[in-house]
Amino acid sequence: MKLRARGKLFVASVAVVALVVLVTGMVAERELRAWLLSHLQDDLERQLDAACIAVVRAQPSGAGPADLLADELGAALQARVTLIRLDGTVAGDSRLTLTELPAASNHADRTEVQEALRAGRGHDQRRSATVDEEMMYAARSIEGDQVRVVRVALPITVVEQASARLRMLVVLAGLVGLGVAVAMSSAASQVMTRTLRELVAHARSLSALAAGGAAEGADGPGADEIVGLRGTLEQLAAELDRSVAALAEERGRLGAVLEAMKEGVVALDRDGQVKLVNPAARRLLAIEGDPAGNSLLALVRAPTLADLVTAASAGEVATGEVATSGGAGRTLAASAAPTRGAGGVVLVLHDVTEVRRLERMRRDFVANVSHELRTPAAVIRANAETLLLGAIDDHARARSFVEAIDRNAERLARILADLLDLARIESGALRLEPVDVALGPLCDKVRTALQDRARARDQRIVVEADQAAIAHGDPSALEQVLVNLLDNALKYTPPGGTIVVRAQQTDAGWRLEVHDDGPGIEPHHWPRLFERFYRVDAGRSREAGGTGLGLAIVKHLVEAQGGHVGVGAAPGRGSLFWVELPRAGAAKTAPS
Ligand code: ADP
Repeated sequence: MKLRARGKLFVASVAVVALVVLVTGMVAERELRAWLLSHLQDDLERQLDAACIAVVRAQPSGAGPADLLADELGAALQARVTLIRLDGTVAGDSRLTLTELPAASNHADRTEVQEALRAGRGHDQRRSATVDEEMMYAARSIEGDQVRVVRVALPITVVEQASARLRMLVVLAGLVGLGVAVAMSSAASQVMTRTLRELVAHARSLSALAAGGAAEGADGPGADEIVGLRGTLEQLAAELDRSVAALAEERGRLGAVLEAMKEGVVALDRDGQVKLVNPAARRLLAIEGDPAGNSLLALVRAPTLADLVTAASAGEVATGEVATSGGAGRTLAASAAPTRGAGGVVLVLHDVTEVRRLERMRRDFVANVSHELRTPAAVIRANAETLLLGAIDDHARARSFVEAIDRNAERLARILADLLDLARIESGALRLEPVDVALGPLCDKVRTALQDRARARDQRIVVEADQAAIAHGDPSALEQVLVNLLDNALKYTPPGGTIVVRAQQTDAGWRLEVHDDGPGIEPHHWPRLFERFYRVDAGRSREAGGTGLGLAIVKHLVEAQGGHVGVGAAPGRGSLFWVELPRAGAAKTAPS
């Protein structure tokens, strides 16, 4: 039969009370007996000493006086007094009459008598054969003619009576204790049962919630609450295990997402200290080492970031652009949002450096194009207006106006053609078809095409090309690259100058070089020389018919074929423009 918690509590408390009463009773009785016996013995010794004094004084001779003395002493001391001769025969006994004396057994074999004769004093405790009672004996030997041992004995019934009384009291106390224990255990068990039931119900509903279901009610009466609680707690632990595993998996997934994200994510606690930072955020904010626990604003000095964090701490979602100063100096689109409940802030950072650069380039480009087109358009308009206003009838002047219109229209056409070329290359509309191109013949062809212009300015074009050099590229694109570079060299080299075109092999492929012995270009212009409309000397460029787009076209055409361009100082004086092209077969496919 299964006991409910109340039953168990009741049985346990009764058992405890019974055990306590039993042990206490036994110990108390033993101690009491020992204490009483030791007192009895002390009394017996004192009475024996008194009896001995009396017997030594009296020195009774013959059975009559000795027995009488024993009777008197027995009455006075309220004890049994026995006077024994050396041979063990009884000379007098307070419990025996004179006539009974001869029948009394010889006392020489009594333990206390033997000890008294041997050592002066002797003791024993036993049931008396003579008076049939449990007695305590004390004997002492004395000097005398007749009586040699005096013995005093007291019944120990008083000890037995006291023990019995104590036992009764203990049993009584035990019964009262049991009654109290039963009452208290029943009250306690009622309280405990109620608490346990509430606990079980609570734990079950928790467990059901952890399992994702609806909360359950507790079992009806009859369930063993403790067993129920244990079962429910085990179930709860299993649910918790599952929840922890699910959370760990979720955390792992989140970690993988954060690792792989291109956007930077930083989580701050309510004090603005970094709790989490993903690799992208480290890179974007140029954070080195482990920033956890440090203040973000101490790690990254960007006032806008501080404003965003402050706004998000106040509960707003704030967005803005942050310019970082450390490292490469980036522009980041940042969004700061408060974390629900925790009082922290989550920052999401998006690198918009390139987007902003492109936007700036586009704005500059539009401004540059407008600027480039405005002058020839204005010149054309002014000349046309002058013609319309009457100059058309003045043949000599009209011609110069028309020539100016023609020159500027041509200039406009050149700019537009170059812009169109650039747009086509950039958009991929210009289809490049890379094939193996022999660089020697290509250089010769371009030289031949520009030879007349060179001769007109008394300039020399020297080709130093390895006739076996084969590059992988689009022949027309490569031709245009070479034409643009040679055209510049002719334009910016004074009359009588020499231009060297060289094609040589390198580790990665082939390199084309165009040297001139012109004025050269200051190194601080080199990084921007290939930008659209960038000119070292705008006036000179326009005068020479330049559009400011020639080198930009060269760069785009070469890069579209997987090559690189560069500028430097030619040995001696002048400029050196170079183009590196990949070896045949190693080129990237040109974008379509
Ligand atoms: P442009 O049409 O003005 O020549 P480019 O893009 O071809 O435009 O060249 C850009 C600028 O680079 C030129 O304006 C010129 O100042 C400079 N430049 C190009 N080639 C040379 C060269 N061989 N010697 C000196 N300056 C040069």
